[in-house]
Amino acid sequence: MTIAKRQFDTLVIGAGGGGLRAALQLSQAEASVAVVSKVFPTRSHTVAAQGGMNAALANVLPDSWHWHMYDTVKGSDYLGDQDAIEYMCRSASNLVVELEHAGVPFSRLDNGKIYQRPFGGQSQNFGGDQAARTCAAADRTGHAILHTLYQQNIRAKTHFFDEYFAIDLIKDDEGFILGALVLEIETGEPLLIEAKTTLLATGGAGQLFRTNTNAHINTGDGLAMALRAGIPVQDMEFFQFHPTGIAGRGMLITEGARGEGGYLINKDGERFMERYAPHARDLASRDVVSRAISTEVREGRGCGADGEHVLLKLDHLGREVLYKRLPGICDTVKTFLHIDPAEEAIPVFPTAHYTMGGIPTDRHGRVIVPVAQGQESIPGLYAVGECACVSVHGANRLGGNSLLDIVVFGRAAGNDIIDYLNDNRYHRPLDNDSVKQAMAHLRRWEQKGEGESVPALKKELQTTMENYCGVFRSEEVLQQGLDKVLQLEQRLQDVRLKDHSKIFNTARIEALELENLMDIAIATVASALGRQESRGAHSRVDHPDRDDQRWLKHSLYYKEQHRLDYKPVTLKPLTVDSFPPKERVY
Ligand SMILES: Cc1cc2nc3c(=O)[nH]c(=O)nc-3n(C[C@H](O)[C@H](O)[C@H](O)COP(=O)(O)OP(=O)(O)OC[C@H]3O[C@@H](n4cnc5c(N)ncnc54)[C@H](O)[C@@H]3O)c2cc1C
Repeated sequence: MTIAKRQFDTLVIGAGGGGLRAALQLSQAEASVAVVSKVFPTRSHTVAAQGGMNAALANVLPDSWHWHMYDTVKGSDYLGDQDAIEYMCRSASNLVVELEHAGVPFSRLDNGKIYQRPFGGQSQNFGGDQAARTCAAADRTGHAILHTLYQQNIRAKTHFFDEYFAIDLIKDDEGFILGALVLEIETGEPLLIEAKTTLLATGGAGQLFRTNTNAHINTGDGLAMALRAGIPVQDMEFFQFHPTGIAGRGMLITEGARGEGGYLINKDGERFMERYAPHARDLASRDVVSRAISTEVREGRGCGADGEHVLLKLDHLGREVLYKRLPGICDTVKTFLHIDPAEEAIPVFPTAHYTMGGIPTDRHGRVIVPVAQGQESIPGLYAVGECACVSVHGANRLGGNSLLDIVVFGRAAGNDIIDYLNDNRYHRPLDNDSVKQAMAHLRRWEQKGEGESVPALKKELQTTMENYCGVFRSEEVLQQGLDKVLQLEQRLQDVRLKDHSKIFNTARIEALELENLMDIAIATVASALGRQESRGAHSRVDHPDRDDQRWLKHSLYYKEQHRLDYKPVTLKPLTVDSFPPKERVY
């Protein structure tokens, strides 16, 4: 069969903030850039980001990038790589100004400067008073950033392949990545996009869990593509549960709501965070607040008929502040709960939110893997954003650091790709075996006959992950979870599609996504079972303490035989002194 082919200097898979920031850098440098997205670019999940983006502009309170770096290292529970964290925090202010000049309508202070709100885990002076570091466009910051980046890409003549689904990377015998096989969703036809460099920017995998804040498209496709190409995924045991999802439904109530002065209460009306984090209280880091809420509910102090949530109080802030600073939250609460947050408290419970682990990269976005002597990059392959693990978030991401991560490392990857293209001017020959393998993967879904259904298996997978790999974990529960997920993986082979049509066959897309989710689920549970300590978002009741002696290291999971490996954390920053691990209190 002949497959249609296109050639570009760079293929960017993903049109969220990470992919678009990289594409912009490249298109402005006159590289030919293809951006592939399974949804229209401005529907990418970055659009949902609410609260804002961190940068030590010091517009509201004194601040410095070095304090931001300290908070990020501490927030990561010392698992973040300090070279990458320094790079990100140092770059932040310039990148906010750059976004502003590109057209992002940030909210303003009365003096005309960019508005900044307090967020969890932020401090002045290395652990002192609360800082106000999060630059916001009301509570629609991601929307503003994504639309601006899209418009700038249109202006820079980036080539968009809207509603194309990437299936597999194409790789040659020498390990070079040569592009990817993609599927045009509208026609059901495959297309081979050859590229000298390929950047994965496919976002997170929140759909692993039944209750989550993520869009349906967040199925970890890029991570699974990397796994199938023999590349490990890093630190997958660290999945962030956001403390304030709408109870039972999962929609996010931004941390910005607590940044604006909202607070949590239990059924006795007690501000319980004072017991768990006496200094930072409701603005302690997310892992701490999520565990506190879960503990309140487990110990019988939850609210509602079944005692299964706590309440987020915002009514004391006043209608004017609420509707000016948090208009999207007011809309969400009214739409889904039919209550007015200016009058009633909001029922909340931790909900799956952010994939801290991902495809291992250095701070230039190059995908790196261990080799006999240290590590080396995979020629032609890059990853940025939530699908990557650079690692600036370590074991727990601070709110407002992901929008920063995607623009900082999107830009850095763009710059490195420009250098790579200068040194590698010609396309390498296509590897036919690799193309055949990718086509066979796609064709698997042409198998006819009776079998299990994709939605049913997906639901079981999500429920299993929620029940066996949630906020609190233990060896026994994780082992049961792993056994169950491996059984589900077996059953996946018996799944058959009923609809084999070509045109806009979303059932086929959902099947491909389920395969991806399955791989990521196994990686997550296996990595969680492996790590016998509690650190950041990974909380093991059977190993309640952090154990730096044995576990101050990154995990690496390989698809082949579900193998786990480990590699050291980079404790040495670029120019400043290291922040050595110490007890983490808020
Ligand atoms: C509700 C919510 C609120 C948030 N608020 C904040 C906040 O206030 N501040 C903050 O810092 N962070 C926030 N975050 C996190 C942050 O928004 C995300 O981590 C970040 O936007 C991810 O950007 P990305 O570019 O990596 O991926 P995304 O924006 O998720 O984009 C992924 C892209 O990949 C494409 N894609 C995926 N798979 C395929 C495939 N197989 N084929 C083709 N295309 C594919 C998608 O179409 C999409 O274009 C929030 C997250 C959520 C869920």
